[in-house]
Amino acid sequence: MRLKNLLLELFFPSFCLHCQKLGYLLCENCYHGLEFYFLQNKLEEITPHFETAYLDQLQIIARFNFTLQKLVKALKYKNSKNVAPFLAKMLWRHLLIPEADLITFVPLHPRKLKLRGYNQCQEIALELAKLSNIPAKNLLEKKINNQAQAQIKNQAERLERMANLFAVREKYQNFVKEKKIILLDDILTTGATLNAASQALKKAGAKKVFGLIIGSKME
Ligand SMILES: [Zn+2]
Repeated sequence: MRLKNLLLELFFPSFCLHCQKLGYLLCENCYHGLEFYFLQNKLEEITPHFETAYLDQLQIIARFNFTLQKLVKALKYKNSKNVAPFLAKMLWRHLLIPEADLITFVPLHPRKLKLRGYNQCQEIALELAKLSNIPAKNLLEKKINNQAQAQIKNQAERLERMANLFAVREKYQNFVKEKKIILLDDILTTGATLNAASQALKKAGAKKVFGLIIGSKME
């Protein structure tokens, strides 16, 4: 394993995404610049924002600071797919991966997916599946575009639209019943997206939904 890693690095040397030092995607020094939350259940911090919380647990690796932002953005915009295994290893090392039947992720709008060519959260989910032996499935689909969402002024209408933002894909409708599911997303802002995605899973009969997040923008 070590030899394989060494060979990989010889052929694909990487630079620290934060300080450009040759070696790892994030050098040891910059790694220490991450602000870890250390295994806290962060669910209570987001529940006051919602009428109903559809999550059963929420774990977040760290604050979405400048260093973590570099990693997430590299995966999102620069097609740096080698970042996905790195972020999955961070989830594996820093969080307590719940005992679950499935791993899924917050989907992108089909138009955005076509534009980017991949869903960065799916890339991380697939890597986490390899580490945890829990299968990753593309369970959810996004119904409407977020941009339209921003133009809705009325609070009730906004909540209504949010509740219908995601749905379990037709072919998985029966599959998710009674399942314990890990729901992955890269960045948490208010938790509204994660809660809406979780709501869709619960509506289809999921038993438990455990949210896993890379970085949080919450104070
Ligand atoms: Zn560095």
